[in-house]
Amino acid sequence: MAAAGRHLREDTPVPDPQPQRPLAPETRAVHGPHPEHTGAVSTPIVHSATFTFDGLDAMVAAQGQGSAGSFYQRRGHPTISATEERLAHLEEAEAALLFPSGMGAIACAFLSLLRAGDHVVCVDPCYGGTQALLRWGSERLGWTHTYVDARRPETWEAAFTPATRLLHLESPINPTLVVFDIAAAAALGHAHGCTVTIDNTIASPFGQRPLELGCDLSLYSATKSIAGHSDLLAGAAMGSRAIMAGVHKAREVFGPVAEPTMAWLIERSLKTMPLRVRAANANALELATRLLAHPRVAQVFYPGLPSHPGHAVAEAQMRNGFGPLLSCDIRGGAESALRVVNALRLVKHGASLGGVESLASLAAYTSHQVIGREGRARAGIPEGLLRISAGVEHVDDLWADLAQALAAAGD
Ligand code: PLP
Repeated sequence: MAAAGRHLREDTPVPDPQPQRPLAPETRAVHGPHPEHTGAVSTPIVHSATFTFDGLDAMVAAQGQGSAGSFYQRRGHPTISATEERLAHLEEAEAALLFPSGMGAIACAFLSLLRAGDHVVCVDPCYGGTQALLRWGSERLGWTHTYVDARRPETWEAAFTPATRLLHLESPINPTLVVFDIAAAAALGHAHGCTVTIDNTIASPFGQRPLELGCDLSLYSATKSIAGHSDLLAGAAMGSRAIMAGVHKAREVFGPVAEPTMAWLIERSLKTMPLRVRAANANALELATRLLAHPRVAQVFYPGLPSHPGHAVAEAQMRNGFGPLLSCDIRGGAESALRVVNALRLVKHGASLGGVESLASLAAYTSHQVIGREGRARAGIPEGLLRISAGVEHVDDLWADLAQALAAAGD
């Protein structure tokens, strides 16, 4: 794994009680770097779109600092860069950037890495918005792309061409929670001269560290576990200074910039992310285990279960659990699964994931409706697939709700 760790930061600007001993992620989440020490425990929200200077030299210096300089909000802003520093610190990345949505982060990453004529290899299925971006890129920007089956990494080699510049990964994958060996995939991409990006939204930075596994850029819908309260839209990208400089340029050119209150809310949420993710992941594992034994459930998809085909790989490359997302196949197909969702009381029917509240949704009616019955069959998505994003409620309350909904749907 020659590339592993090559984009990790070397310095730790947080006071460390024992400099030889690295701080744990939980501590990093609470004690981020404080670029300007004001004595405040919380980072101040600076509501200013532009900044003034005593002289031209100071102005040029701030401008030259990119996202870290306080110059003009689209280039660099103190509240936004404080959050970015904390994000980078958390994943031990050299640099991070915040975006107003996950798609903003993914789009700017692709726009910075690809030119007309370039080819992308992308795991299938990947997030629908990323598929729309690749379609857009092939219709308007001269990119081409090939999808590779996430369940069969041994077939991916054939997809690379001399024009391939980018390998885009996702693991675990929604909604069947397919997992593959990220380090091996990154090595394959590098062997073909590609930059390797990964959408690490489902695992979260606390649940999986793709840069350590050899990826070049880790991308997030921070709307999910990072923000964690289903109350705002945000995105993040983390990687080496060199790659992030290109992503920053794309952000500056196209303009998807976060605003200070949102950045502050993300920084606030980061402090409790390890607690939330650990609780949600524990709930997900417990629900998956109980669903496995339920007579109305034909199959459970969760990488934390020993019966999951990717369990050993997940155990080796994920941390602090196996993610908040699980799926199950309700006997009786889509209509039966719809009856279960309609009978839920505590678990709400909604499409997102990674929030403190548990949500359930149906692939056949929502996220994977457009690909039709045949497309779902090809992707291994059963018609009765019910997706659950475990929140942080007490697991017995969640189970009581699921059990009554499963019973009611069987009547
Ligand atoms: N990646 C994944 C895995 C997602 O689930 C989502 C949103 O659901 C996105 C990216 C896009 O993020 P956003 O909705 O914040 O733009």
